[in-house]
Amino acid sequence: GMPALGADRDLLLAAPRGYCAGVDRAVITVEKALDLYGAPVYVRKQIVHNKHVVQTLERRGAVFVEELDEVPGGATVVFSAHGVSPAVHDQAEERGLKTIDATCPLVTKVHHEARRFDREGYQILLIGHAGHEEVEGTAGEAPEVITLVETVADVEGLSFPDDTKLSWLSQTTLSVDETMAIVDALREKFPQLEDPPSDDICYATQNRQLAVKEISEGADLMIVVGSANSSNSVRLVEVALEAGAKASYRVDDVTEIREEWLEGVDKVGVTSGASVPEDLVEGVLAFLNERGFPTATAVHTAEESLIFALPPELRRDLRAAG
Ligand code: SF4
Repeated sequence: GMPALGADRDLLLAAPRGYCAGVDRAVITVEKALDLYGAPVYVRKQIVHNKHVVQTLERRGAVFVEELDEVPGGATVVFSAHGVSPAVHDQAEERGLKTIDATCPLVTKVHHEARRFDREGYQILLIGHAGHEEVEGTAGEAPEVITLVETVADVEGLSFPDDTKLSWLSQTTLSVDETMAIVDALREKFPQLEDPPSDDICYATQNRQLAVKEISEGADLMIVVGSANSSNSVRLVEVALEAGAKASYRVDDVTEIREEWLEGVDKVGVTSGASVPEDLVEGVLAFLNERGFPTATAVHTAEESLIFALPPELRRDLRAAG
């Protein structure tokens, strides 16, 4: 008879996973801008850090640029979900560009905190990854008083006069555990360190890490769908391994899965980063089903219902267009 495929195998699917409210809003912003103003609509940087999302929008007429000097005068440009520094806003104004700001409101919140701490005379320790667009944008709010801290080891090299007012902020997509280790090291060295009014690591990052922890214990393999430049996706691989997954890989889509990853593997978990469309996850699940893994069981660790309104400048134009 037929071998009992899947008898001892398990396929678990993290919930929540995939799109967060900020990504959903940013992608819809570009789609609506294309509908309303027609192609081309320029977008500074990748609207969200996902290869497939960018390619799909490109096919519809979005033009992705690195910097504003690549945008013709008078054109419409969308700022990505990761936020921009005030210098970029100024440059857009000088160039006479029409701008739509798709910065996630949770990133904007961190910008506000940076400005407030600066006004109140603090030095700010910004925990994050050098070169990431969100860090560049946030640091640009108060470049004179912000110092980037990437690791616990970085803390050792810091020094400030004893009476310095110190605070910390963070990138929204970091590992919760790693960030708390850095904050502990900072507080040890600088007891006067003051916390921000609320955590900067966003709800979506935290929920996705919690979900992946839940299914990683005892997993032979954790597959994380997400692009290489997606900070929160890369963190999910690290969290999976720390939580006990024997192996974990990030893939942009099903074509990157290697057959040998499945050798001798019974328990597989799947999740996706905050910028990943669900059809890419479905492709991975179908691939696993074809190879004898059962229908995925969703493991729910949090419910999400947050939705952000579109950028006000876009809503105004949508209303005017009727
Ligand atoms: Fe906003 Fe968090 Fe999504 Fe980033 S991951 S876009 S901060 S909701």
